[in-house]
Amino acid sequence: MTRDCSRFKFISAFFFFPMRPLLARIGLSYDISAIANAYYREAFERVPAADKAVILPQCLVGEKCKARFSKEDGILCVNCKQCRCGEIRALCEENGWRFFISPSANFSKRLVSRKGLRAAIGGVCDVEIEKGIRSTPITLRGVRLKQKKIVPQVIRMARCDCLNNDIDWELLRRMILNGGGGL
Ligand code: SF4
Repeated sequence: MTRDCSRFKFISAFFFFPMRPLLARIGLSYDISAIANAYYREAFERVPAADKAVILPQCLVGEKCKARFSKEDGILCVNCKQCRCGEIRALCEENGWRFFISPSANFSKRLVSRKGLRAAIGGVCDVEIEKGIRSTPITLRGVRLKQKKIVPQVIRMARCDCLNNDIDWELLRRMILNGGGGL
């Protein structure tokens, strides 16, 4: 797909987003995160590893998670192996990325600003995607979070469940290993 075509698709997808229920009734539906990922991918890949992060939501951590919470950095995984966050943290570190587990969408926004992140892969459920689109300025150069623009790649969570959730871990691994691509 050409750059112009990808940009047109991106702009149209966000323009028609509020009309999705109507469009669905006439059989037209689309995955807005896939369209946004495709549009932002090249810009994401260009960002140096040190300015990239993976930000995962706390609904992925194991039931008896041994991590402690830091006001500054979120949930500090100690790789107790009850979930796969520890493995992803290690992979991020090996590849020079940063890694965070965030207790909320607002905390994630503050992280981006405090840590000076320029690109991030986020695990996000459909409810948060919808809320984010309604409340966050989304531009052709990235998403504006607390005065800071960031280039996103989104992996949709398996479900909208704040306690026991899942993500496509293999896809996430591939994306880190490919510098952001892999979707
Ligand atoms: S691997 Fe990390 S995030 Fe997962 S349960 Fe253990 S300490 Fe918590």
